[in-house]
Amino acid sequence: DVELPITSVDSVCPYCGVGCAITYQKQENQIVKADGRESPVNHGRLCVKGRYGWDYTHHADRLTTPLIRREDYYPKQGLSTDVQSSVSGKRRKPGGIILDEHVYDAFREATWEEALDLVASRLLSIKDEFGRNALAGFGSAKCSNEEAYLFQKLIRAGFQTNNVDHCTRLCHSSSVAALMETIGSGAVTNVFADVQNADVCLVTGSNTTANHPVAATFIKEAVKNGTKLIIVDVRKFELAQYADHFAQIRPGSDVAFYNGVMHVLIREGWIDEDYIAEHTEDFESLKELVLERYSPEEASKVCGIAPDEIRAIAQTIGKATPPGGGGSMLVFWGMGISQHTHGTDNARCLISLCLMTGNIGKPGSGLHPLRGQNNVQGASDAGLIPIVYPDYQSLSDPAIKGKFEKAWGVPLDPEPGLTVVEIMKGALDGTIRGMYILGENPFLSDPNANKVRRALANLDFLAVQDIFLTETAEFADVIFPASSFFEKTGTYTNTDRRVQLGIQVLDPPGQSLQDWKIICELSRRMGLPMDYQDVSEVFAEFASLTESYKTLRHDNLSESGKLWPCPDPEHEDGTQILFGDGFPTNSSRGRFVACGYEPAKELPDEEYPLVLTTGRVLQHWHTGSMTRRSLPLDTIEPEAFAVIHPEDMKRHGLQDGEQVRVSSRRGEIVLQARAQASVEEGTIFIPFHFREASANILTNDVLDPYGRIPEFKYCAVRLDPL
Ligand code: SF4
Repeated sequence: DVELPITSVDSVCPYCGVGCAITYQKQENQIVKADGRESPVNHGRLCVKGRYGWDYTHHADRLTTPLIRREDYYPKQGLSTDVQSSVSGKRRKPGGIILDEHVYDAFREATWEEALDLVASRLLSIKDEFGRNALAGFGSAKCSNEEAYLFQKLIRAGFQTNNVDHCTRLCHSSSVAALMETIGSGAVTNVFADVQNADVCLVTGSNTTANHPVAATFIKEAVKNGTKLIIVDVRKFELAQYADHFAQIRPGSDVAFYNGVMHVLIREGWIDEDYIAEHTEDFESLKELVLERYSPEEASKVCGIAPDEIRAIAQTIGKATPPGGGGSMLVFWGMGISQHTHGTDNARCLISLCLMTGNIGKPGSGLHPLRGQNNVQGASDAGLIPIVYPDYQSLSDPAIKGKFEKAWGVPLDPEPGLTVVEIMKGALDGTIRGMYILGENPFLSDPNANKVRRALANLDFLAVQDIFLTETAEFADVIFPASSFFEKTGTYTNTDRRVQLGIQVLDPPGQSLQDWKIICELSRRMGLPMDYQDVSEVFAEFASLTESYKTLRHDNLSESGKLWPCPDPEHEDGTQILFGDGFPTNSSRGRFVACGYEPAKELPDEEYPLVLTTGRVLQHWHTGSMTRRSLPLDTIEPEAFAVIHPEDMKRHGLQDGEQVRVSSRRGEIVLQARAQASVEEGTIFIPFHFREASANILTNDVLDPYGRIPEFKYCAVRLDPL
């Protein structure tokens, strides 16, 4: 027997926005090991997902041939998940085949020619009959910058609509709305490793140890070296053990809490008057609101934190960041802040907190909304959003529109398109009739899944491009078999704005193709030729149309990549800290936006007396299409569960580990009840990874008016023992 050689490929992690650098070892066409690589991002560290979560790429469920729906499988139903009453509570083999065999019965194998021709002709005929805005596309934050750029180019220039969006709408659209409005840019101001320079670190609405695990190690290290840590959240999780202050606020009460803190800062004079005068505007209206209405006593009535604790937290911030700019505070936030109907208000408060204490634009001082997926920053930068061109350039500015029309060779629509949830509503009411979905799984990721089910089934035509027959693909007319992260080369922009090169490790299986090639083939058939030799050419075109990426090229991104903006192609690392000398707003000043507390849209009542908040766990990733097919990860966390306070368990006659029915006004699921005091009485937590008990059957699809983000973090539910 001859031992096959093992070779190494330096790349990055396919999961979270931390973007850890990894060396993969492969033997033949199989990954056999992953090791952390030395880089400014992770210093060689990895979490369990990066180290062990790569075996999904070899899973037997991989799609290897184009599929077309059989005539006798109309009307579409979505065969494997009964979402009216979830097929839950069933254990299955960890990392095993998730899909029931009969899911495949609805499809027949096809050639690439047949599948691509069918998709192009059906989408073009919908466009002819119902107009270009009857079409829409969802790209993915799991895709590379090159794929995101090509996808939005196809939708804008080929479909000729701006109805293109992706899951950034579901994670930080409210944060970005607030950041754009107040400081003129949605980018993080400081890299997360800069926490080592912070006197105070505020982490809010982020279970960092589960969702950005390696970033959390930098926070823990900073705490050991003297950084004061403040954690504000509705759940008590691991990082709280390291905190100087842990404030377990009531769900949805962030605005009241932060207004209370700002009240104390202003009253005590713990603000930076010079910075406010020199770099900001509209402070007076914020000052008036918080002094009049948000004393610690008043704030406490809403958020549940004792007035003295609000004062103590304000004191920690005030004393560590004295007027005159001597100290520093870095603020990290996650979806606990953004996924509310007042998510934009929540983010505005955090921005005001930093502006009034002069904590932006210097080492250890700034704003860092932690980006979720490995390329959610890059997919947004590349234009996978309905309201702007790549690099956030205006759709309606004639000069910018002209630039893209010249580059893409077609006239473009200056009107903004629809967002994710609006597109689903359009599918339901018949205004959206044809869709192309690349790498997203809205059936599990979008709120109010029963409605999403009806919307997907109502489409005249749906093409899905993915590596597995996802729950969303069950509604497809045509499925394109795509390439996994490991089977292609492309750039990915992490939460720090660091653009890194992911290098192909494996060959795609069967007839599956790299995603960029599928997009180009479809585009050509839709009358928009795309002729690129390789993805570096795609990147060069994208970069040439932007300011932020214009100095970057594939060949200067090897090793550790570079942070955008990068002053010149040879610059060592790009820009670590933004806005030290003013903001990219019309006045160059940061703006305070005063926000009053607004309750969530669906409050508990007699029928649905508990609050549901949703989120993620360390071992799984979003809709689980990858991690639930990873044996090491799914073995650790194989089953859907609800975290319930022990007193609520008692009240409902539940024992730890029993099955429980959780219902909202939109549906019900059955899953394991876990007694944990990490949530307060009256609140339950359910992760949204599990198809057999999908948390999004319960969630409310009401939107934040600015960021158009749904209220995943709050709805009313009830518990019923089985
Ligand atoms: Fe991957 Fe994020 Fe874990 Fe790093 S922290 S290994 S990027 S999942």
